[in-house]
Amino acid sequence: TTHLVWLRNDLRINDNLALHAACRDSKAKVIALYIATPKQWQQHDMAPKQAAFIYQSLLLLQETLADRGIELYYHQCTDFNASVDYLTTFCEQHKIDNLFYNYQYEFNERQRDAKVEKQLDENGVICQGFDDSVLLAPGSVQTGDRSMYKVFTPFSKAFVRRLHQGLPECVPAPRARDGAPLRIHKKIPPFSYQAADFDQALFPPGEAAALRQLRHFATQPILDYSSARDMPAIDGTSRLSVYLATGVLSPRQCLHRVLKEHTAALDDNRVFVWLNELIWRDFYRHLMVAYPALCKHQPFIQWTHNVEWQQNDEHFTAWKEGRTGYPIVDAAMRQMNDIGWMHNRLRMITASFLVKDLLLHWHGGERYFMQQLIDGDLAANNGGWQWAASTGTDAAPYFRIFNPTTQGERFDKQGEFIRHYLPELSDVPDSDIHQPHAWAKKHNKVLDYPAPIVEHKDARKKTLDAFERAKNAA
Ligand code: FAD
Repeated sequence: TTHLVWLRNDLRINDNLALHAACRDSKAKVIALYIATPKQWQQHDMAPKQAAFIYQSLLLLQETLADRGIELYYHQCTDFNASVDYLTTFCEQHKIDNLFYNYQYEFNERQRDAKVEKQLDENGVICQGFDDSVLLAPGSVQTGDRSMYKVFTPFSKAFVRRLHQGLPECVPAPRARDGAPLRIHKKIPPFSYQAADFDQALFPPGEAAALRQLRHFATQPILDYSSARDMPAIDGTSRLSVYLATGVLSPRQCLHRVLKEHTAALDDNRVFVWLNELIWRDFYRHLMVAYPALCKHQPFIQWTHNVEWQQNDEHFTAWKEGRTGYPIVDAAMRQMNDIGWMHNRLRMITASFLVKDLLLHWHGGERYFMQQLIDGDLAANNGGWQWAASTGTDAAPYFRIFNPTTQGERFDKQGEFIRHYLPELSDVPDSDIHQPHAWAKKHNKVLDYPAPIVEHKDARKKTLDAFERAKNAA
């Protein structure tokens, strides 16, 4: 019998539920397949940096699979529809009788998988899917009346109760199969996708690098996470998002590594703060399954449809390019444009600025983030944007509006982070770094840095009015 593992967002051999299940029968022949779909990726705004990271991780995976006697086949087609047809033909050609794959929860992905299951079922191929990219399966953490939680804190509490009842186990990497190791005859060719480099020192591809980073973070840095996590000048977060977003690492591996280092992590506040972020990650995935409309650009809070957003290409471009005149916003946007990653506090500040200071639709921001982020993930990105825009579950209420200047003063007091990305402000003293133009005026200096494109106080008022009008119209 021949088993096929269809790899998608699960580019690893350790704790890969589909791969593990495919290899359980030691007599079966096991092969793997990855199908690149550049046109679909374009439609999903996949960042070129993410595509490049996936490509590098795939090359490494091809080697680790070959070491264990599993050949990785590769094909490139246009989109998901074409991939369904290719997969069907591939199964016929290779006489596949069992297909193993890990679920993806986005709407188009689920539609594709439903088609695959139907088509292969007609051809007598048995398909098995697995809830692999989450700690607990969507739909398994529900309120008393069996619906999805709409607020995070009670969800997280119920989630932890479930974890106390039984942890989702990690499965080992498959043992070497007969004939291992295989020689690689054909290296996977580059994807036909917009080329981009990413910083391989910051985001070394492959699961060995991901596990090293996880081990390092779970020992000491995790203990400082709760105090360091909001400071963008400090390397205080795990930087594991790219691995989790592409499935080079699983959240179960994270959970178990943390529990190994800190046995009481689920009850220990300091360490739990980090685990709670993984629960946020699950929360947004569970929500996407319960409310597929989230994948179709719909706001969670219906009346926010009525908000009259501004149209202002100049402002949108200034935001994208980091030229708004608000140093913390600009430094943050330049960080993302530069490395394809942005610190979480800054994601909140820049998203809030676009929506609440510029009154531009969150769709544009959500999309631009996806186009830039190496860790772009529909569920987390949409969740983050709807939170910041006050249109989502658990959202910041619309009348709570970040002041970009005071946010900068609080989280980058001396401007250490700002100076790194805005060298044009290097002469401005620490105490004035968040309002450089006031300093320049006072000291008769000329700055090569734009003046604020909006006045926060006026912008805030305009936004409050727009949201109130929208709410009253509902
Ligand atoms: P850590 O702080 O070390 O957190 C550990 C892991 O938990 C992360 O790697 C991530 O997988 C998960 N996580 C952390 N915070 C969140 C969160 N708020 N929601 C969901 N999962 C979380 N995260 C993405 O992975 N992809 C995105 O496209 C994305 N877009 C975002 C957009 C906005 C507007 C906002 C406010 C947040 C977004 N986030 C996104 C969440 C968060 O900013 C990143 O996960 C985090 O900054 C990644 O850095 P880290 O790995 O060092 O995180």
